Amino acid sequence: MIKQEVVNQIKKAENIVPYKLRADLLFQKQIFNNKTYYVVKDPLGLTYCRLPQAEAFLAGLFDGKRSAEEIAQNYNKYFPHKMISAQNVLQFLNLLVSRNLVILPTDVLLSKIPRRRDSFFQLLVGFFLKIFFIKLPLIHPSRWLDRIVRSAWWLWSPQGVVITICFWIWTLFFLFLHRSAFDTNQIQFFSAQNIFFLYIATAIDKTLHEFGHATTTRRFGGEIHEMGVGFFFFIPVGYVDASDSWIITDKKARIFIAAAGVYTELIIASVAAHLWILFPLGMAKNLAFNLMVLASVTTLFFNLNPLMKFDGYYVLVDLLEIPNLREKAFAYCTAKIQDWLLGYKNPQLLKMKVNKAKGWIFFVYSTLALCYMFYLIHSLGKVLFNGFKQVGLENIGAALSFFVVMAFVGAVVMKVFLAPLLSAHFFPGFSQTLKKRLKGFGIGLIVLCILLVFPCREKVKTVAVVRSQLGQNVASADGGVVKEIWVRSGQHVKAGQALLRLDNDRVEMDLQLARMDLAMKRIDFSSFGYSSRKSEGKEKESAPMRSQDLQATRKRFDLALKRKEELMLKSTIDGVLINPDIESIKGKYFRPGETILKIRNLERYYFIVPLTQAETRIVFPGAEVKGIWISSGKIFHTVVQKIGQKMVERSEIPPGLLIPYGGKIPVIPVTLKEQQEKNPYVFAFIPLSKEDQSLILEDMRAKLIIKGKRTVLAEKLYRFFTTLLISRQED
Ligand SMILES: [Zn+2]
Repeated sequence: MIKQEVVNQIKKAENIVPYKLRADLLFQKQIFNNKTYYVVKDPLGLTYCRLPQAEAFLAGLFDGKRSAEEIAQNYNKYFPHKMISAQNVLQFLNLLVSRNLVILPTDVLLSKIPRRRDSFFQLLVGFFLKIFFIKLPLIHPSRWLDRIVRSAWWLWSPQGVVITICFWIWTLFFLFLHRSAFDTNQIQFFSAQNIFFLYIATAIDKTLHEFGHATTTRRFGGEIHEMGVGFFFFIPVGYVDASDSWIITDKKARIFIAAAGVYTELIIASVAAHLWILFPLGMAKNLAFNLMVLASVTTLFFNLNPLMKFDGYYVLVDLLEIPNLREKAFAYCTAKIQDWLLGYKNPQLLKMKVNKAKGWIFFVYSTLALCYMFYLIHSLGKVLFNGFKQVGLENIGAALSFFVVMAFVGAVVMKVFLAPLLSAHFFPGFSQTLKKRLKGFGIGLIVLCILLVFPCREKVKTVAVVRSQLGQNVASADGGVVKEIWVRSGQHVKAGQALLRLDNDRVEMDLQLARMDLAMKRIDFSSFGYSSRKSEGKEKESAPMRSQDLQATRKRFDLALKRKEELMLKSTIDGVLINPDIESIKGKYFRPGETILKIRNLERYYFIVPLTQAETRIVFPGAEVKGIWISSGKIFHTVVQKIGQKMVERSEIPPGLLIPYGGKIPVIPVTLKEQQEKNPYVFAFIPLSKEDQSLILEDMRAKLIIKGKRTVLAEKLYRFFTTLLISRQED
């Protein structure tokens, strides 16, 4: 059927078809199944369609000057085996109009067709594009691009590519050699001081990126229609209209052109890396650093990422030979899900004719792209939340970020369900299957609801370190060799109980000397009364002195005796000997002050567990705890004794808690530290179980599962998702 509007147009203009094939369309010949086709690309809409040779010829006859009869005659001259009538010409015109491949000359368009008003959104986009993307075109770029391509031909040779790749690898090695430069680097990438350098670096980097596309397009014979400098959000960037690249028949060339931007940027990053290392401190060094990061990190993450419609996507499209991969993949998966869930046969799917391999590609691509989009949306939500949080509007931020994520999920769900549900009105047959499916869903929903109110427990999984509140490190002031031991590893001892005896020759000798000294002094003192009378006056004078001397000697003896007695070591507390190898220390020498035995009161042994604010609402005194020693894998049970009232700063937490599986204690970045210190923890004290007293060492670590308050599954899930989506620190 011919649109009435089109027919009217033609009647008014005395049978002359005013429509004209668009001059900006690009035609490319292709052989497919031994037939000649023309791929027609619309560079404005960025869409393309395939026309058989005869139709492509017919399309070319629409020049706005011929009548339908003339067009038919012209066509029949060249394709006499497929004669067509003027009516057929108008039917074909309908197709061209619907595909937007023909235009009305401006005057005809303005005078005869009522103008469709742009939507507000389109106007807004146009307005912003005008403001934020100002183009300053260069004239005849192809000519001087050619000169570059001719003089630098070797860059596109296999040798050139190999040399470039070697240069990249060398740069990585070079950076590895100078890795200390990263530690001493003072540049904060997203700081206010750095914005200027970031700005300059972006301009240089993105201009050269486009330049890479442009020269490579010329190298493979594509035309550059337009090239110049644009200001995107006031950042000057080069731009290139390399729409010709898709029309190049050589697939490899197309891949090269798409990858050329990233390729160029990686060369820039490599050069910048060398400059950054070699330059002295100053502006040039800063600029080189920015350029290096920008041209490597952002490029690899954004441009080469095939999940967005950037360069990487077009490389992938050409590699897989699936044009419009993204649209097709989404359409295919939507239709498949509609079929599986609702039994709805999407007419699009029937048209697509997808084989198994392609189906898998579509499925994998859609899943990854959807996850990636969700990640971006989620990040956006986080940015919103943090932005609002800083101005004190936390609740609004949370609501907004939740809304953004939900809107995305809602849009995906709508896309899947809307078409089948609407079509139920029009196809009574389908309406039956839909009813059945919906009934199934209803039952599923009820089961889900029952599951959601299923009682379960909140759990806190954590790693804890053993700390003792009471203990004795048994040591000797004089040291010595262990002579006798009266205790075993793991034995209970009482306060005052003798543990072992040391042998120390020096103490032994000192005692002998002191004893002899004392004996001498005693004899001396007792013989005093019998000395000659002549010296009586003198003797009387020295009597207190002698007595004092004897006292001092006695004291020295007592001290030596005490030292000797102290070689027998005793426990000062009730507790358990926790050294693993007490039997083996017999005959071993211990230095003065060196710990020989460790006694710990296990009733005073605790796990201290840092809890976040959210976790304190779940854990309560008396909560059951299941633990597993990290060193031995042994399982034990205990209960939470109390929960501290005092907030503790992160710095008070033993470093052993920060490394769940052993290894070096990590250095926490300053920013993270500050953030964590704003969210203080509370310690829970968990005593060790009595049956597990054997051989526990301080600082031993265990994984603990604390069984918290009773709850229902729904609440648990809700808590899980809110902490996942919004922020770990919800208070
Ligand atoms: Zn690019």
